[in-house]
Amino acid sequence: MSNYLLRLKNGEVLHDLNEHLRLGGFEAVKKALKMQPAEVIEEVKKSALRGRGGAGFPAGVKWGFVPKDSPKKKYLVVNADEGEPGTFKDRYFLERDPFPLLEGAIIASYAIGANTCYIYIRGEFVKQIKIVENAVSQLYDKGYLGKNVIGSGYSLDIYVHPGAGAYVCGEETALLESIEGKPGRPRNRPPFPATVGLFGCPTIINNVETIACVPLVIKYGAEEFKKMGKEKDGGPKLYCVSGHVKRPGLYEAPMGTNLLKIINEFAGGTIDNKPIKGVIPGGTSTPVLLPEECDVDMDFDSLRAKGSMLGSAGIIVFTEGTCPVKVLERISAFYAHESCGQCTPCRSGTLWMKRLVSQIEKGEGRQGDCELLLDVSKNIIGNTICALGDAAAMPVQAFVKKFREDFEEHIRQSKCPYD
Ligand code: SF4
Repeated sequence: MSNYLLRLKNGEVLHDLNEHLRLGGFEAVKKALKMQPAEVIEEVKKSALRGRGGAGFPAGVKWGFVPKDSPKKKYLVVNADEGEPGTFKDRYFLERDPFPLLEGAIIASYAIGANTCYIYIRGEFVKQIKIVENAVSQLYDKGYLGKNVIGSGYSLDIYVHPGAGAYVCGEETALLESIEGKPGRPRNRPPFPATVGLFGCPTIINNVETIACVPLVIKYGAEEFKKMGKEKDGGPKLYCVSGHVKRPGLYEAPMGTNLLKIINEFAGGTIDNKPIKGVIPGGTSTPVLLPEECDVDMDFDSLRAKGSMLGSAGIIVFTEGTCPVKVLERISAFYAHESCGQCTPCRSGTLWMKRLVSQIEKGEGRQGDCELLLDVSKNIIGNTICALGDAAAMPVQAFVKKFREDFEEHIRQSKCPYD
């Protein structure tokens, strides 16, 4: 296994800037500040680095959307609101190794012409907020932030902004509303944040892991970085593995590593070697895979071809003996609770889905409930302001279609057959 991102051993932390510098830290920043901003963007484009927050959009292309001739301020916002159930990769940087993330933030800010960067960290990460604030403060003390960053003529301020604990604030426009001091509700798009973002100014929002990859692109060069993953999906990748495996945890491997290899080799296989019943590959919003679908490369395009998504690479494994209706009940309750309520299909639909799944699980389901669930979820997808609606509906569609017999058995027996 490679260790470009997870450079620390289990239990280690690196919170001291001097130690980071001793290990060659900030070489990438020094190199980038000698390049033209457009050259940095071009290098990131060539690297095939795609956004690791879930959408998989090419990072360099996104950066290129910032209008160069705009007289307005430009902002970089790092999305550290990691809230997708099953996902715990960004926490590694925030809690144990914040400097690569901050290096990436400096390079990305420089590339897009931003002199202000916000790191938006979910409110529950109380400890992590303090760690990142401390790291930022060390950078100011040593001249890596503030006016004239290490004598380059470029100036940058980084602010750590705590969220208030809403899942929807991981959606980029809700996150911007939240930084502006408003309730975290997603905005209609267009306009997109790259042109009209924070305080109405051009803004790039990138996930923590994406930004932490940027120093690697500059340090090793675009071609080498691409070779760490796939031709159209470059770089190393962090995979979070949880559920019924012997060694749940965070693993680094090339982008596109086979899912069964991650489960069986890295995570040690399933507990008691039980057969897999299902695997959620990218956090709870991504469609579940059946065992026969698990021989798949974990990258954006390969999973899409299987009808699922890489999402945030939060792999959740459940084995035979687990009630899939119960799994879906938990997932549906989560999204219903987190809907911001702005649009009707999501506000009402998520509650309907949660209620129907819960009734089926309790043995109170009726004939026709599976069709009703599929119908409600179909009417949510694509009809909402933000992706939370889809995130709630996609698992419902996948679970009902793939575990239909389990749902029908609950209805026939008027109880959960797994109890
Ligand atoms: Fe809010 Fe849901 Fe609409 Fe997103 S889809 S804006 S979370 S109601």
